[in-house]
Formats: sequence, C-alpha cells, structure tokens
Amino acid sequence: MTLLEVERLQASYGQVRALHGIDLSVEPGEVVVLMGANGAGKTTTLRALCQMPGLTVSGSVRFDGRSLSGVRTEHLAGLGMAHVPQGRGTFPELTVEENLQAGAYVRRDRAGIRSDMERWYDTFPRLSDRRAQVAGTLSGGEQQMLAVARACLSRPQLLLLDEPSLGLAPLVIHQLFEIFAELNRTDGTALLVVEQNASLALSIATRAYVIESGEIVLSGPASDLQADDGVRRAYLGF
Ligand code: ATP
Repeated sequence: MTLLEVERLQASYGQVRALHGIDLSVEPGEVVVLMGANGAGKTTTLRALCQMPGLTVSGSVRFDGRSLSGVRTEHLAGLGMAHVPQGRGTFPELTVEENLQAGAYVRRDRAGIRSDMERWYDTFPRLSDRRAQVAGTLSGGEQQMLAVARACLSRPQLLLLDEPSLGLAPLVIHQLFEIFAELNRTDGTALLVVEQNASLALSIATRAYVIESGEIVLSGPASDLQADDGVRRAYLGF
C-alpha cells in the first residue's frame, strides 16, 4: 500500500494561494526529494501535509491508508509521520535529553526508547557531551542534529525533512545525509526531503518531484532527473 498519497493539494496563506493542486506519493521505504526554486512552495507542501496552523488546506492526504483530514499536527507522530521543520525542530528551553524524551512521547517501550537514545548519542557524540545543556544554547548544527534525532525517536514510518542542511558546515551536511541513507536502509524509514543541495539529496533518493509556482512540473526516478539537462541547469548548477 502507498504510504503517503496526496491528491489535488491546495494551500493558501489568507488570500494568497501558494499551492495549486499538488499530486504526489511516497511508497514505504522510499526516499523522495521535492526540488524547486525559492518560493516555489516546497516548505508549504510539507506544512500542508502536517496540517500546520496558519494555512488553509484542501485536497486529499492519505497516510498509511487513512485520511489526515482533521487530524491535528500533534497527533501525526503517533500515526507514524514526523516532521523536521526548517530551523525550528527543538524545544529551546528543554535540555538535549528532555528533547529526545519528548520525541518519544508516543511510545511506551521504555527500554527501546533508552536504547534508541543511546544510538543517537553514538551517532552524534556532540549531543552526548551536551545531554544536560538546553537546546537553545546549542550551535546551529547541533540543533539540527537534535531536531533530526528527536523526530526519529518517535520511530516514524515517514520522516519529512525541510532543508536539513541549512546553515551547516559541508562536513556535517555529508554526515547528516549518510545518516538519512542509513536510517532508510536499516530501519526502512521513508523520507520526503526538501533540500537546497539538490544534488546531494538526489544522490540518496529513489524519486523526485520538481515544483514551480505551487505546481508539480516534472517527476520521475532520481537518476532520470539527475541526467535531465533542464534540471541540471536549473537546480543542480552544472
Ligand atoms: P524557500 O526554499 O525559499 O523556502 P519554498 O519553495 O519552500 O521556498 P514556500 O516557503 O513554500 O516556498 O513559499 C511558497 C509561497 O508561499 C511563496 O510565494 C511565499 O511567499 C508564500 N508564503 C510562504 N509563507 C507565507 C506566509 N507565512 N504568509 C504568506 N505567504 C507565505
């Protein structure tokens, strides 16, 4: 069964329509990239899928066979969908440890939660060293790592990632994408990724969509888009 099925998704900020009927899907275990210029509507697409406040949304969004219509944002993690929003994926007043615990709030398996937390501390030793530090005082890169780890603590079937590389050093970006690829390989977590560094995102992707002015204008296997001259010129910079 298709994991995420989106049909005719429209979204408006007040009177301003940002999405004009988007169709997209994510199969279980897929890595799907959403590409497009600044302002095309990538962030809005993820926000609309998560039923974020401030947006008027219409169309059909089905996740794991059920309609998300009327489902509140805070209930999505319990259904298996986690979102790492652009730049704001942590609770700044809580410590690193408390942020991770908060990420696992939908789970009851204490031992499993503990071992997952240790796994993420192994993955990001910088977070391990800062377990008792409040998230708001972490560096940008550390906060991004924490946001990803926190979202993964809910053990999502689908992780929505909005510009995870924003503001990070190249080395950290590569480390993060290796972790995404591994998460996908070992846990089978499906990813829907919005990423400025389209070339890097495509390198771990199964499929991609190109969005322009709130509409999907192109989609296909990641390898086809990587080879497409128009896509290379417009989004890959070569
Ligand atoms: P970027 O990579 O620059 O973030 P994007 O593809 O993610 O671009 P969106 O942020 O989704 O684009 O923006 C889509 C459109 O919606 C743009 O025209 C933008 O100006 C508009 N928009 C985004 N947020 C708001 C808001 N809070 N209020 C009004 N309009 C908004």
